Amino acid sequence: MISNFHTHTIYCDGKDTPRALAEEALRLGCPALGFSGHSYTAFDPDCCMSPEGTAAYRAEVLALREEYRGRLDIRLGLEQDYYSDPPGEDYDYLIGSVHAVKKDGEYVIVDWSREILLKGVEKLYGGDIYVFAEDYFRLVGDIYARTRCRIVGHFDLLTKFNEDGTLLDETHPRYLRAAEEALDRLLEAPVLFEINTGAMARGYRTTPYPGPILRRAIARKGGKFILSSDCHRKEQLLFGLADQLNQPYERLAEAP
Ligand SMILES: [Zn+2]
Ligand SMILES: [Zn+2]
Repeated sequence: MISNFHTHTIYCDGKDTPRALAEEALRLGCPALGFSGHSYTAFDPDCCMSPEGTAAYRAEVLALREEYRGRLDIRLGLEQDYYSDPPGEDYDYLIGSVHAVKKDGEYVIVDWSREILLKGVEKLYGGDIYVFAEDYFRLVGDIYARTRCRIVGHFDLLTKFNEDGTLLDETHPRYLRAAEEALDRLLEAPVLFEINTGAMARGYRTTPYPGPILRRAIARKGGKFILSSDCHRKEQLLFGLADQLNQPYERLAEAP
């Protein structure tokens, strides 16, 4: 009875239509399905929904919500990027996500590729990945104040290309201090933290976001989690989620 509330469609960088995803959710026996298209961002127009696309996305998901009522609880959400303008319309919930860090008028994109990330850190941070991490987590800590999101998306996305540990040391005191400061700010807000298997589905990582140390910190401090596949293709709608259930001491929310 697992559901997913972090789902991308052809309106942004997903591969499937909302209807195909709804059918897959029904086939898998999900009680609910939440769509979360990428909010429009000027720095990354290829991966997000255009303003016109956003209107079409809303209309299609709202129509499906009616059509599937009683069979599948469809929710209209949005993955709201830190730098996007506030959405002009109502959504059932927002996922607040940091995908880039702006420095000296330029964006360092966190999750495009290891090379692009390292190039940005070299150019704008003199190669000091920990100063970059401090800026990244400052934005994450601010994401509720900025977006009023219900869900914090992929808390440590900056580790996407760190499976081999050579990008940064996730036990470094500066890294952990920055992450815990963000966490402490967010724990004052009514947010859920994702256990996000998206990078596992795409072969970048073998563990979900957040990594084990931060995941334990969130659980220890009483944060509440939600399972997310960050789905970009219907075959991966519930990718790896069942394996994340029944972790001791973790409080899990069923819906945003
Ligand atoms: Zn995201
Ligand atoms: Zn996403």
